[in-house]
Amino acid sequence: MIVVMKTGSPEVEIARISQELSSRGLTAEKIVGKHKVVLGLVGETASLDPLQIQEVSPWIEQVMRVEQPFKRASLEFRHGQASEVVVNTPNGTVHFGQNHPVVTIAGPCSVESEEMIIETAQRVQAAGAQFLRGGAYKPRTSPYAFQGHGESALELLAAARRASGLGIITEVMDTAELNKIAAVADIVQVGARNMQNFSLLKKVGAQPKPVFLKRGMSATIEEWLMAAEYIMAAGNQNVILCERGIRTFDREYARNTLDLSVIPVLRSLTHLPIAIDPSHGTGRAEYVPSMALAAIAAGTDALMIEVHPNPAKALSDGPQSLTPDRFDSLMSELAVIGKAVNRWPQRAALASY
Ligand code: PEP
Ligand code: MN
Repeated sequence: MIVVMKTGSPEVEIARISQELSSRGLTAEKIVGKHKVVLGLVGETASLDPLQIQEVSPWIEQVMRVEQPFKRASLEFRHGQASEVVVNTPNGTVHFGQNHPVVTIAGPCSVESEEMIIETAQRVQAAGAQFLRGGAYKPRTSPYAFQGHGESALELLAAARRASGLGIITEVMDTAELNKIAAVADIVQVGARNMQNFSLLKKVGAQPKPVFLKRGMSATIEEWLMAAEYIMAAGNQNVILCERGIRTFDREYARNTLDLSVIPVLRSLTHLPIAIDPSHGTGRAEYVPSMALAAIAAGTDALMIEVHPNPAKALSDGPQSLTPDRFDSLMSELAVIGKAVNRWPQRAALASY
C-alpha cells in the first residue's frame, strides 16, 4: 500500500503519520519525489481499509494498494518514480538509473593474474568504463573447470581498483564469503545460478553494498522481481537488475537468448535500474557489439561486457570476450547511440556523474 501526500505537506505531519502507522504495525518508507512525498507501507496491509488510513491526516491525498506480488520493487511503490543506485568509486560518483548516462562495466570473466587484471582495468578505464568486473569465485558447470582463484583474486581486484580508479563488481556464491567480498567490491553480484538462492539473497540484503542481480536462465520476470524483493525486504534497496540471456530452444548458434524486451517490460513494472550483459547473452564476441548497441537504443541503464587481454587463452568465457582494442572501438560506436538517446557521459564529466 502507498500513501501519497499532498504537495507541500509539512515534515512534522509526515513524521506524525509514519509514527501513527508504525503503531499500527506497519513500516512506512518515505520516498521523496520531485513534487510529492510518498509513504510506502510494508506489513500486514491486506486486511487494511485504505479509507481508514486516509482518515489519519487531511494532508493525505490518496491511499493505494500495490497490486503486484513484489511490493518494494514495484513501480507503484515509488508512485512511478525511477530509483537510482549511487556508487562512490575512486574516479568519482556513479549513478545507475533511468535519469542518468549509461554506466559501463567491463572486464574478464575471471581474475586470472595480477598482470592481466591490472592491464584490463587500465584499458577499459581508458576506453570509458566506470566499473571493472572479474570473478574470484566462479560458478562453473563442471567441477573440474577453473573455479576462480578465490581470496587471492579479491586482493588482485583491490589492486586493480587502486591502479585504475574503477569501481569493482564481483560475484558472491556462498554466504560464507560475503563479508570478504563486500570488503573489496563496490557492488556485489548474485549470478544467474543463484538468483533464487533465498538464503544468499537475504544475506546480501542485510549488508550495505549495492547488489547486481542477474536473471536466472529460466526465470520469469516475476520470479526475478520477487528475488529483488527478497533483497529489499532484508533492508537493501540498492538493487540493479541484469538481463544475461535466457534458455530457449536453440543453443546451436548463440549460448543464450538475450531478452532485450525486458527493458520496456521492467520499466512498466519496477523503478529499479536495468543492466544488460550481451556477453553471456550471446556467448560469442562477434555478436556482442550489436546487442550492446541495441540495448542502449532500447533504454538500458548499464552494460556489462566481458573483456580479456587474450581471449584465446582465457580460463573461462574466452569465446565471448572482447579484446581491449575491440572494446575500445565498441565504446566509440556505443557513444553514437548513447548520445542520440541523451544517455552518454561527457568525457570531461566522467569523474562525476
Ligand atoms: C559472470 O558474470 O561471469 C557469470 C557467471 O554470469 P551469469 O551468472 O550471468 O552466468
Ligand atoms: Mn563469464
